[in-house]
Amino acid sequence: MRLILLGPPGAGKGTQAERLQARFAVAQLSTGDMLRAAAKSGSEVGRQAARIMARGELVPDAVVVGIIDERVDSADCRNGFILDGFPRTIAQAQALDAMLARKGLKLDAVLELTVDEEELVDRISGRFACVKCGAGYHDRHLQPKVAGVCDRCGGTEFSRRADDNAVAVRTRLKAFREQTAPLLPYYRQRGILRSIDGMTGIDQVTKALFAALAPPA
Ligand code: AMP
Repeated sequence: MRLILLGPPGAGKGTQAERLQARFAVAQLSTGDMLRAAAKSGSEVGRQAARIMARGELVPDAVVVGIIDERVDSADCRNGFILDGFPRTIAQAQALDAMLARKGLKLDAVLELTVDEEELVDRISGRFACVKCGAGYHDRHLQPKVAGVCDRCGGTEFSRRADDNAVAVRTRLKAFREQTAPLLPYYRQRGILRSIDGMTGIDQVTKALFAALAPPA
């Protein structure tokens, strides 16, 4: 199964991609995670990407297309993959089409998560993650069961993303509206876009995603 998860920052793509990954035994490919790892590694590309990401702007198409092109050939993608945060521009979507055609692969579905902008700002402004395992939490909506201790791995160190600040968030939402939203008609025309209400609870959204992917009875 090959899927794209589409939606603005804070829509829940990462959270839901993890669940889809577990359910369908496919790889979760988050360009945001890959770029953050590159930034941490201190490589030249990583350092350049880190500066762009901190402002909330999009890194050049060629960089992310190159990363994905290499990554989909990995063994863990044999069963398929979920693209989380890619493509984000029409040029990236076209490059993905060409790449998949070259590899003899096909997209099964594009799943859009819809969330109001006010709600997105609230979600982004409160989120933090375990440094050790990456499990995500939220100041108001999802605290660890024991304060200061990660539910998943017992880690006690947490961090917030550098681009989850008010100024960068506004730029990220603008980038979504102007550069990523045009992908919706692009995939709708091809009959593979399914829109899911991302305003309901995390479990309800997961249920709706699974239902959208179930073969018709
Ligand atoms: P995310 O973790 O998906 O919210 O992405 C965080 C940041 O990484 C974005 O604001 C961009 O700066 C960069 N980024 C991630 N994916 C892409 C992409 N497909 N194209 C361009 N920039 C990206």
